[in-house]
Amino acid sequence: MSNVLPTYPRSGLQFTHGKGCYLYDEKGNEYLDFGSGIAVNSLGYSHSYLNTRLKEQLEKLWHLSNVYKIPEQEKLAQRLCEVSFADYVFFCNSGTEAIEASIKIARRYFHQTLKSKTKNEIISFTGSFHGRTLGALAAGGFSKLDTFNTTIEGFTQIDFANHDKIKKAVNDNTAAILIEPIQGEAGIKEVPLEFLVELRSLCDEKNILLIFDEVQCGLGRTGKLFAHHWSDIKPDIMTIAKAIGNGFPLGACLTSKKVGEVMDFGSHGSTFGGNPLASVVGNSVLDIMLEESFFINLEVVSKELFEGLAEIQNEFPKVIDTIRGKGLMIGIRCNVSNSVFVDKARSNKLLTIKASDNVVRLLPPLILKSNECKEGLSKIKATCEMF
Ligand code: PLP
Repeated sequence: MSNVLPTYPRSGLQFTHGKGCYLYDEKGNEYLDFGSGIAVNSLGYSHSYLNTRLKEQLEKLWHLSNVYKIPEQEKLAQRLCEVSFADYVFFCNSGTEAIEASIKIARRYFHQTLKSKTKNEIISFTGSFHGRTLGALAAGGFSKLDTFNTTIEGFTQIDFANHDKIKKAVNDNTAAILIEPIQGEAGIKEVPLEFLVELRSLCDEKNILLIFDEVQCGLGRTGKLFAHHWSDIKPDIMTIAKAIGNGFPLGACLTSKKVGEVMDFGSHGSTFGGNPLASVVGNSVLDIMLEESFFINLEVVSKELFEGLAEIQNEFPKVIDTIRGKGLMIGIRCNVSNSVFVDKARSNKLLTIKASDNVVRLLPPLILKSNECKEGLSKIKATCEMF
């Protein structure tokens, strides 16, 4: 028996190391990873620049309490603000912590600015996944909380991107609307642009804060640094995690000036958030992603992947129903069982990830090269042939 709490259905695979877009098991078998640790290893495995920067830092200083100024953290915050709508960044260690911070900040904003004790409701959308702490679970839908004998007030969930329902749901007590611009766990569901536009104007009209959860779709995954950059809409708060650390635990909650200013001394904190190791990694990830060629290459390989997938879909309509997504955040909606597809792909040494709505997610490292893309496509084709 394993002594690890059985909260994950683990496959029997055991990887010993990785390089670029590949993982290697104990027997030396090579797997092409189109999952990236669920959108985490966006710069692949064992990236030489990241490894060098991390090693340099670990010889100097691992941890420093947030009661001291951490230069690498200051730099990372400044850079994240320069490339986004934000003026402030709170650092933490995971996506769910970034979500908790966003909920606290939104509620405190109205507590401080309106002296309101009731404008605290958070509206989210069906299918959304925001993490596993209690607040994040409540935002993800009450059924996820049922078995924990917990009820949490102040959360409402409405149908995904439903214009009428959102208008009816907002009221004087609504503090924030929380949305993933592209839902990941739900099966790569893109929020229509016009719905984002509507949310922004609704929030402006009713004095409600708009929170974008870019934990999965952010940091280049969709072909732009942030998924909402495909539109002109700006949130008031945004959560990120996963790819900003490329596997090092790092999350962040970004806010506009007016919102962030309510978070004064003692209102929130984290022991490890933004420590020197994490901050060096975050900065190194940005060094790579902000290179001019990064998104140009990504666009080329994404186009190649989508075109190849469309051909496979044409050839195997009994296996593939639809292909959706953006950049390298791709969902294959299956006409066969998505679990069986993932297993068969694994037997072809291709790693993919299941999602809801019978979807198989393709989230390859963003450094994917054309030859690796072709290899992935031929493994997907071989997988389709097995049905
Ligand atoms: N938000 C979204 C959109 C996610 O996809 C996830 C994780 O999959 C989370 C939040 C929670 O992140 P973490 O697992 O790092 O707590």
